[in-house]
Amino acid sequence: MKIVFATGNKNKMKEIREILRGLGMDIISMADAGVSDDIVEDGTTFEENSMIKAKGVAAALLKADPQLASEAIVMADDSGLEVDYLNKEPGVYSARYMGKDTSYTEKNNNIISRLEGVPDEKRTARFVCAISAVLPDGRDFCVREAMEGRIGYEIAGSNGFGYDPIFFLPEYGKTSAEISPEEKNAISHRGKALRAMEKILGQELK
Ligand code: IMP
Repeated sequence: MKIVFATGNKNKMKEIREILRGLGMDIISMADAGVSDDIVEDGTTFEENSMIKAKGVAAALLKADPQLASEAIVMADDSGLEVDYLNKEPGVYSARYMGKDTSYTEKNNNIISRLEGVPDEKRTARFVCAISAVLPDGRDFCVREAMEGRIGYEIAGSNGFGYDPIFFLPEYGKTSAEISPEEKNAISHRGKALRAMEKILGQELK
């Protein structure tokens, strides 16, 4: 059995290969599997969007490479930031918040300014990640995990990406852009969701 992961992001592929190493399966990017379809993520939840992507890529793979489709689990993720004070914005629109070409310095400063004067206890936020998997026999599974934190008062740190520089982890006294990639993988929404999916697949494929 192989895994085809529905992402074009090389960093994500690296992270996924590391975390799912225990499954002992080949993990192939959708581009390497010959699928380039742009799937419209028009769901309203992370779970829905990850399933739309996984099913879309599974259907495209069946056309592009029926042999691979018969022996591959297609997996997809969807993730984002929920800020409680902003009614869980940007949520599923995290990548598209203020326009997808707007820099994260601008996006992050905008969120900080929308929380001006808001005290610590009301600055709660979380990164959420849903992962869906479609098996060759048509069965599908979805998991959702989160990493809890708070929106900081200023941008800090240069590790990670996206909203990491404003995502303050009280237990570390640092943002998720200030901890190491290994530390982040151990506690992150994506790390936890991948390990949860690994566990399900381990049981289902026994
Ligand atoms: P996608 O799941 O690749 O579509 O990512 C959604 C968006 O959520 C990213 O473009 C980031 O803006 C944000 N995001 C998701 N995970 C993280 C993270 O670990 N750190 C910072 N931003 C994240």
